[in-house]
Amino acid sequence: MSPVTDRTYAQALDRRDPLAVFRQHFVLEDRDLIYLDGNSLGRLPKATAQRLQQVIEQEWGQTLIRGWNQGWMEAPERVGAKIAQLIGAAPDEVIVADSTSINLFKLAVAALRTQPLRHKIVTDDLNFPSDHHILQGIRALHDDKVQIQMVGSQDGVHGPVQALCDAIDQDTGLVTLSHVAYKTSFAYEVKFITQRAEQQGAWMLWDLSHSVGSVPVRLNAWNVPLAVGCTYKHLCGGPGAPAFLYVRKDLQQRLLNPIPGWMGKRNVFDFDLTYEPDPGIRRFVTGTPPILSLCAIEPALDLFLKAGMDRIREKSVQQTEYVIALWRAWLEPLGFALRSPLEAARRGAHVSLGHPQGLSIDLALIQEMKVIPDFRPPDTLRLGPCPLYTSFEEIYEGMARLRTTVLEGRHEKYTQAPRVT
Ligand SMILES: *Cc1c(COP(=O)(O)O)cnc(C)c1O
Repeated sequence: MSPVTDRTYAQALDRRDPLAVFRQHFVLEDRDLIYLDGNSLGRLPKATAQRLQQVIEQEWGQTLIRGWNQGWMEAPERVGAKIAQLIGAAPDEVIVADSTSINLFKLAVAALRTQPLRHKIVTDDLNFPSDHHILQGIRALHDDKVQIQMVGSQDGVHGPVQALCDAIDQDTGLVTLSHVAYKTSFAYEVKFITQRAEQQGAWMLWDLSHSVGSVPVRLNAWNVPLAVGCTYKHLCGGPGAPAFLYVRKDLQQRLLNPIPGWMGKRNVFDFDLTYEPDPGIRRFVTGTPPILSLCAIEPALDLFLKAGMDRIREKSVQQTEYVIALWRAWLEPLGFALRSPLEAARRGAHVSLGHPQGLSIDLALIQEMKVIPDFRPPDTLRLGPCPLYTSFEEIYEGMARLRTTVLEGRHEKYTQAPRVT
């Protein structure tokens, strides 16, 4: 085989790729645009556009209010059941509602309420800012009687596994972490940490936002009690698509939704003024489901199910290994540092690269090189290929343009930061 820095190397990988056929199911209008931000907003599947048109014109346009009896009401469960297949859960353990932040709030508060004598929430500093803000809000609601112990990563890349295990104790009510860290792509060993939390009698709540659709998740096999996650990143559910939450079957009756609403009642349309929760996962729904955005998630899920998470992971590892090989050959000599784990088993589907001029490089790539990565302060570029629609040649081209940008100093004129990078 040719050297890794030859285009023919990428072309050979594409020829042998069993998932290459999935690319045609996505809208790829501009063939020259290199999209490496599937970890922030997945591409649009062609079937989603058709499905949305059908929901708008036929279901909303003609069926009108009768739609609630013809599939809308059960949409949170139906879509949740499909997500369940991707994360190793039973169909009645997952439901789609609200945003990830809100779902985290609901499950964290519900869990803490069962053990009012425990005063500690344990998390790490690799967790997503919104997750921290939700926890801070919960602390305020408890009049600061609940503390947040934020365990720091030692190298800023890997999760502080040992320190977390030490922090989880008999006063810990809740442990919450991102399965895959958004900034560095570090992937926790879920089963191990979950077990530690369980041994200490603490609730474990995983945020799967960066792992669902990219890394195999086996919630039941790992005995996970609680999880939340996002559908608009790897899962291609569309901008602002509603999130999901998972509660293990045997725990559903023990937990109460702290934002109870009519859509989570046992009898939604009884208009009774007392709240009696649905006996199952539906109790975690609060208000009316957003039907248009809910229906938009489904066609993408069908593609993920058809491809299969194990095949997706296999290609994803190949892709991130390829990014790292090109980083070593081309970018390390130009001052880029690898900010993701080298070990594939501990890495999610994106690769983070640090560079002192990271933001300027990101802006130059977007504005004149037709490459879309993303940027996380202070200096990290994230490259997120998606096995279902990113080809190896696209990765090659994106990395080559990244190298050219720096070699030619094209980034030097970019100093103004836009709002969304
Ligand atoms: C993207 C992401 C979120 C997003 O939360 P929303 O409330 O849906 O905007 C939350 N947590 C993590 C870990 C994420 O990666």
